[in-house]
Amino acid sequence: MEEYDVTIIGSGIAGATVARELSKYKISVLVIEKNSDVGLEMTSTNMTLVCQGGDSLTFRPGTLHAELNVKSIPLWPKLTKELGVPFKRIGGLGLIRDKADYLKFLKMYSRAFKSSLKPDAPYYISEKDFQPLQFLDRRSLRELEPNINPKVIGALYDPNLAVTDPIKLTKALAENARANGVDFLLENEVKHVERKEGYFVINTDKTSVKSKFVVNAAGINVDRIAEMVKARNFTYVPTKGVLTDFDEETSEIFRHQAFYLPRLGEPHVKAVVPIIYGGLRVGIYLDFVMRSDKNLPPQGLQHNLNVIKEIVPDYPFEKHIKRTFFGIMPLTNAETGWHDFIIDIPEHVPNWINIVLGPAGVSASPMLGEKVVELLSMSGLYLEPKPNFDPSAKRGVRE
Ligand SMILES: Cc1cc2nc3c(=O)[nH]c(=O)nc-3n(C[C@H](O)[C@H](O)[C@H](O)COP(=O)(O)OP(=O)(O)OC[C@H]3O[C@@H](n4cnc5c(N)ncnc54)[C@H](O)[C@@H]3O)c2cc1C
Repeated sequence: MEEYDVTIIGSGIAGATVARELSKYKISVLVIEKNSDVGLEMTSTNMTLVCQGGDSLTFRPGTLHAELNVKSIPLWPKLTKELGVPFKRIGGLGLIRDKADYLKFLKMYSRAFKSSLKPDAPYYISEKDFQPLQFLDRRSLRELEPNINPKVIGALYDPNLAVTDPIKLTKALAENARANGVDFLLENEVKHVERKEGYFVINTDKTSVKSKFVVNAAGINVDRIAEMVKARNFTYVPTKGVLTDFDEETSEIFRHQAFYLPRLGEPHVKAVVPIIYGGLRVGIYLDFVMRSDKNLPPQGLQHNLNVIKEIVPDYPFEKHIKRTFFGIMPLTNAETGWHDFIIDIPEHVPNWINIVLGPAGVSASPMLGEKVVELLSMSGLYLEPKPNFDPSAKRGVRE
């Protein structure tokens, strides 16, 4: 049986970013992935936004969600350059319809970045890493977006907001980890894990491996994998998010990310995002579901069409639909409405780390690897840096 210092279960953005971070050290690392390639689950079915911290209502200070997202902000340009992955600042528009919207955005504006500007803040970000947010009146908004709904009276503009290609990023992270010595087992589904004295035995449908440490990054299946060694100390609600892509011609019609604030009785997200390669992605029709639910709800497309028409009324978007699809994400703390990431070692199962991302997990990924390295190091894994780590090298994960 092959033996490893660390085995990572799952190769979405979480598993791949952890693999790359660990490939900087002189340890043996294995990634096990059930699919024939990396990044094909949640990581391939999202809005592709790289949140930049301006949305401080979501990034509530004191949460892991805020900490990892804010700390990731300055890392994005360098990381994507090193790996040759597209990263583009598109700018975000919080659309204002009335006074109530304006007051909410004013609160958001007054909080934006504040928690992170002081050098002694828990997640400090220097002023050179972002442009200040600004309010746009009707005329300035129309200069940016001439086709915007005339009922929109202004916007809170975040010039920092960016998009990327999460699948390409995941592949690049995995291929870089592979070039720096990490092994990959694709088309191997973890079926059973045994906890022994000082190590784990991980059994897939094809083979078994021994590992001193395990990083459980199995996406929507994190809880099931954790359950195998009684390491599930969390719950989450699988939440389906339906998205619709519109063709490249629509890039000429609208150029920024834009969203309406949620209102009572409107539980679904209303947002549009320019896709990095052209076209628009619109959503998100949300539904709490069983994770095995593979149905595409017809209300999803209708909701998404209504959203884009509420943002740009006079354009025949029906004729430009490319595809409608969904992703399922884990929402923690669903009962309170404050989702947070989980990245921790359950007290009673040492040497085991669970990672639950959910919303904004791609955005937080640059810092995630460092967080896991910190936890492994605190658990006693000796991490000596490799002097020959190459940040840009690539090797196919099948080689
Ligand atoms: C509709 C929607 C919109 C979103 N929009 C954004 C956005 O704009 N910006 C943002 O930052 N985030 C967004 N997110 C969140 C983001 O997509 C996730 O946080 C992120 O992709 C989670 O990555 P992951 O690696 O944890 O999970 P996954 O990508 O699902 O990876 C888990 C991997 O584990 C593998 N696996 C599972 N079980 C096993 C097993 N038994 N054996 C072996 N392998 C296994 C799977 O095959 C998979 O490859 C969105 C999510 C959704 C659903």
